[in-house]
Amino acid sequence: MKAYAEKIEDIFKKLNTSKDGLTDEEALKRLVLNGKNILNKKKKTSIFKMVLSQLTDKMIIILFIAAFLSFILGEQAEGIVILIIIVINAVISIVQEKKAADAVEALRNMNAPMANVIRDGTVKQIPSSDLVVGDVIYLEAGGIVPADIRLISDNGLMIDESALTGESEAVSKEAIVVLDENLALGDRLNMAFSSTVVNYGTGTGIVVATGMNTEVGKIANMLENTDELETPLKKKLETVGKILSIVGIIVSILIFIIGFIYGKDVISLLMISISLAISVIPEGLPATATIVMALGVQRMANKNALVKKLPAVETLGSASVICTDKTGTLTQNKMTVVKTLFYDELVLGKNSKMPISFLLGCLLCNNASLNEVGDPTEVALLEYVKKEDEGLFSKKYTRLFEQPFDSDRKKMTVVYDIDGRYECYTKGALEEVLEVCPYILKNGEIISLTLEVKDKILKECERLSSEAYRILGFASKKIDFVPKEGDNIENDLIFIGLSCMIDPPREEVMSAIKAFKEAGIKVVMITGDHKLTATAIARGLGIYSDDDLVMTGEELDKVSDKELALRVSKVTVFARVAPEDKLRIVKAFKKNGEVCAMTGDGVNDSPALKAADIGVAMGKVGTDVAKEAADMLLLDDNFTTILVAVKEGRRVYSNIQKVIQFLLSGNIAEVLVVFFSTIFNLSVPILAVHILFINLVTDTLPALALGVDPENPDDMKRKPVKDGSLFEKGLVTRVIFYLLGICFVKGKSLQKVIYKYNYS
Ligand code: ATP
Repeated sequence: MKAYAEKIEDIFKKLNTSKDGLTDEEALKRLVLNGKNILNKKKKTSIFKMVLSQLTDKMIIILFIAAFLSFILGEQAEGIVILIIIVINAVISIVQEKKAADAVEALRNMNAPMANVIRDGTVKQIPSSDLVVGDVIYLEAGGIVPADIRLISDNGLMIDESALTGESEAVSKEAIVVLDENLALGDRLNMAFSSTVVNYGTGTGIVVATGMNTEVGKIANMLENTDELETPLKKKLETVGKILSIVGIIVSILIFIIGFIYGKDVISLLMISISLAISVIPEGLPATATIVMALGVQRMANKNALVKKLPAVETLGSASVICTDKTGTLTQNKMTVVKTLFYDELVLGKNSKMPISFLLGCLLCNNASLNEVGDPTEVALLEYVKKEDEGLFSKKYTRLFEQPFDSDRKKMTVVYDIDGRYECYTKGALEEVLEVCPYILKNGEIISLTLEVKDKILKECERLSSEAYRILGFASKKIDFVPKEGDNIENDLIFIGLSCMIDPPREEVMSAIKAFKEAGIKVVMITGDHKLTATAIARGLGIYSDDDLVMTGEELDKVSDKELALRVSKVTVFARVAPEDKLRIVKAFKKNGEVCAMTGDGVNDSPALKAADIGVAMGKVGTDVAKEAADMLLLDDNFTTILVAVKEGRRVYSNIQKVIQFLLSGNIAEVLVVFFSTIFNLSVPILAVHILFINLVTDTLPALALGVDPENPDDMKRKPVKDGSLFEKGLVTRVIFYLLGICFVKGKSLQKVIYKYNYS
């Protein structure tokens, strides 16, 4: 069916659905019949393939040669032991690899996208994979379109289809048109395609194709997921493995040559050299590190921090700056209107003089509903209207136009038909609203807004803001036309009044900030809110102190990137910033060598989330785009969860260090003992199988046990490691220190054994 060439009613008929959507029962039937709305994933590596890759592993091949030699030389017992070692080694490696892969897969599933679907006439959130053809869904800015959709309504809907068409400019969609059958994908204006991104506005549509039947499903090569097991850490560990292997092989050859010169038995020399070469390779290290990280990730997920990419765990351990949103992350996002102001008098509680247009502004310039669905700022306004004049809810108003809220304009405007007249209502950040108001309402009368009164209102606003109130301005006007999409009607408005809301800080946040400070991590608040409101809240929470700097979006615009980098280390509050500014802030911190985590939720936050060392998106209020760009999701949108994640990150970091330390010092010490006893022509009291056995036993379980060591409170008392590398100087020194220790002790005890062996 070419849905773009059909009328909406015809599609409803053909797909046996309606504006109210399908019933859950019917949707389930269709789901069973046609399958889930998912793109076929890359096939999992089968156990057979894993076994095969083990058998072709260089180390296993060398072991096979060693076993073969043993049998030829009549050392049956030794040969059998080596074969057993091969099997155990392969089993452990396969189990480890599978566990790591399963953990990553589980993460992918946890992170499943959701869709807003209308079923039985009500809006519900369901996993996108459960969508079926005929479902009616709701699209909003920041969302990723979950299936191929024929639009039935649009409201400023702009979609970025670059993933499909390569066209980087967002396409403005139009639901009502019926198009020609031969149109190319990019011209199908009444369609929204799976995997494309809603940049602006809202819309509804009927699902016409799901899963592999969608346009994106037809492009098979887009489906390969990058292998998330390939972390930088794993690569680093593999490099270390390679270097060690080369060193090991050289030392083994030397041992062989020196032993040969001393006239030792060639065959046992050969076996010892091979075994040593094998034992020095820390082959378990990359897999153990992946498991340690994956287990860390699982623990984090249980505590509401969902890490999407394994490397983020390593980075989290070394984070040195955390830039966080204010509303909802540091505060409860439970807003209540506590004061209002009209003309120039503050009004508490009920007020008979309150202009009806103020309540209408609160009620109509609003996309939330009373049952707490929607933006908490808007829910608070509805609750306020309910308290003041519940009767307003029962009247019917028709919305004709909306200029949606966005964090750059910091305003929202609507036009309604009220008793045959077109009325326009605007609400937003007070300075922004006042900027477009030449008039003000005074006791029901429209008068000019003089500079003097404007100043008075702004002063009052500053006073209230410094008491941590969140302030919104309201304005209205009558117009005699219905604006078209894209029109800007935010001008010539009449200022009605303002509302003050409180949004209490989350109780747990203060102690989290203290813990971050102790761990040498700087916390920075970034908000769209007023400078004084932001500073008041930041001060209360312990983020801001008197010596710190506060920067506004306006000030940011005035400084160069270089200056910003110089200044940024003193700033703890960025206020009235647009999401785009976050990118500059992240870059400035990174320029100073900081490892920077950044939170975000909107579409415009995604460049900053990507640029940050750790992009953190809000799991509840975050848009799909932000979640996609982030490395980690906060499932409860709570700042404290970042602390939990950093703690786990540090635990994983120090545990992996322990594993590296243990394996490297043990393995290298072993080589040195044999090396020195060969050089000094002492008999080597250790057989090839012993070396292999020690290697097998120590490389796996004890290493893993160290990897799951419990949290050490000291981990959160040390400063973050600046370069973020696991192989910092301290680790290398410790490895050398330990290996010399082990080497000496081992050497000593071996000497004793040798004496006993030779002289008893
Ligand atoms: P944060 O950045 O910490 O989430 P914020 O909610 O204040 O804080 P934005 O969402 O960027 O940040 O909002 C910027 C400003 O726009 C707010 O301070 C407020 O004055 C105004 N504003 C917020 N929500 C709305 C809305 N729904 N309608 C109109 N104006 C709004």
